[in-house]
Amino acid sequence: MRVLLLGPPGAGKGTQADRLTAAFGACQVSTGDILRKAVEDKTPLGQKAAAIMAKGELVPDALMIDLVAERLRREDCRRGFVLDGFPRTLEQAQALEGILKAMGSELDCVVSIRVPEAAIVERLEGRRSCRGCGVLYHRVFHPPARDGVCDRCQGTLYQREDDRVETIRARLRVYEERTAPLIQYYRDRGLLKEIDGVGDVDEIQSRIRRAWGEARA
Ligand code: ADP
Ligand code: ADP
Ligand code: ZN
Repeated sequence: MRVLLLGPPGAGKGTQADRLTAAFGACQVSTGDILRKAVEDKTPLGQKAAAIMAKGELVPDALMIDLVAERLRREDCRRGFVLDGFPRTLEQAQALEGILKAMGSELDCVVSIRVPEAAIVERLEGRRSCRGCGVLYHRVFHPPARDGVCDRCQGTLYQREDDRVETIRARLRVYEERTAPLIQYYRDRGLLKEIDGVGDVDEIQSRIRRAWGEARA
């Protein structure tokens, strides 16, 4: 499986990538997760990225491209990968094509997950993540069994600093300007599959698997 999940913040990319990779033994490449870990560990990358992420802006392409190139070349990506959060700019998309080509690989398809803006804001405001294992919850739509505690690992749940209304608005603007053009980019390459991202998580997972199946047929 070599799939790219494309969509605005809050579209459900992380939620769906987690399920896809668990089911198909592929590796999940989530640049947001990698960056947040780097910020927490105060690595050189984390120190550069922290302020940018807090404002909802994009980390420079060159840093992101190096990071993903290194990640995709690791052993665990041999069985496939699901990209979530990368590419976010045309420069990143072009670089990805080059990285994959150099590895003798290419994308099976790009699944664009469509969700209306009102639903996005609601999803992001209620998003909670586990500090232990990273699994995603929602205060209203997917609450854990015990308030503030992860069902999977008993870790503590937290709210991301960039999931506040002002930053959400900024991120949505950045998405429209920098990332939305990728939809046409992949349509032009015959790789695009569009799905409706509103509905039950399992139903959306089925839509993605169906789209991927069609792309390989
Ligand atoms: P979301 O899940 O809301 O789509 P992510 O977790 O993917 O957000 O990303 C969080 C933040 O990390 C972004 O707002 C941005 O600052 C940074 N980031 C993640 N991926 C990239 C990327 N490919 N290019 C530039 N910045 C990125
Ligand atoms: P992204 O990675 O695209 O930013 P996430 O997977 O983090 O999106 O989902 C954002 C929030 O919306 C999370 O709190 C998640 O639990 C919730 N969510 C994901 N899919 C759905 C869905 N189909 N219906 C309702 N809420 C959802
Ligand atoms: Zn957990």
